[in-house]
Amino acid sequence: MTNEPDDSSKQLAERVGAMASLCAVVSTTPLSTSVFELVLSGNAKTLAGVPGNDVMIRLVDAQGRFVRRRYSVRSLDDANDQFTLWITVEHDGPGSTWVKSATKGELVDVIGPRGKVLLDPVADWHLFVGDASGLAAFYRMAQSIDVPGKAIFIVEIDAADDALSAPFDEGLGVTGIFVDRQGRSTSDPEGLLRGLAAFELPPDLGHAYLFGEFHIMRVLESALLDRGLRPEQVSHKAFWRSGRSNADHGEPVKSEV
Ligand SMILES: Cc1cc2nc3c(=O)[nH]c(=O)nc-3n(C[C@H](O)[C@H](O)[C@H](O)COP(=O)(O)OP(=O)(O)OC[C@H]3O[C@@H](n4cnc5c(N)ncnc54)[C@H](O)[C@@H]3O)c2cc1C
Repeated sequence: MTNEPDDSSKQLAERVGAMASLCAVVSTTPLSTSVFELVLSGNAKTLAGVPGNDVMIRLVDAQGRFVRRRYSVRSLDDANDQFTLWITVEHDGPGSTWVKSATKGELVDVIGPRGKVLLDPVADWHLFVGDASGLAAFYRMAQSIDVPGKAIFIVEIDAADDALSAPFDEGLGVTGIFVDRQGRSTSDPEGLLRGLAAFELPPDLGHAYLFGEFHIMRVLESALLDRGLRPEQVSHKAFWRSGRSNADHGEPVKSEV
């Protein structure tokens, strides 16, 4: 790799109003059965954007084709020009394969900041629902809530140690519910629907953020609208799709074929 991002990355970044940059791998650390932490350095403040934003990484798949994969920024360390991602690895794909073998000093082509789902500044409570792929975004967003405020997490996990935690301001009311998938299919919404049903929504103004599997996101959105939230109170983004690789641009495939 040269010391410039690929031309395709520069062009894409220009089109989406973001920056393309080569970043160096600082470290990769397994945090739990399903989640690796990746720290990258270079243009960190710009690439990491604001809570809710993600970056696109350009990788090579098993057939030698270039693909992009998107990962939410977990945290920014501006003083050291570094940012952190939490990447799920309990499946086989170019992203999970790469992060498990990435080495210190390796350069990777990154575009950021991306993403439109940001924290609702007027909400009194914030409900984060999804799976381990959403944890980075959920925690970074929740850490930016002004106190006093409320953050509620309902997250489906495959292994007990995937119930990762994060430090929050003392004045923030935090409720965390981790739902064990218990071997259900990765497109089965049952676990998160039950988690949601067990939780009484607070009476004041709230906002729900749904990040996770494509089919489950759709069902959860309807469930929250049925519970009385208005459409503008629910932000959702499919991060991946059960049984299908994400498309080369990093988004889950939306068509049925
Ligand atoms: C805006 C955005 C932000 C995202 N942020 C994050 C993030 O912070 N952390 C993160 O881990 N992911 C995140 N994702 C999801 C991540 O980009 C996808 O999971 C990506 O497809 C993984 O790429 P891959 O190359 O490893 O697997 P792919 O080639 O896409 O998929 C290979 C196989 O693995 C399955 N698979 C993919 N992801 C999962 C999963 N999480 N659990 C179980 N099976 C899976 C697929 O169904 C497929 O069968 C984000 C996605 C988007 C669009």
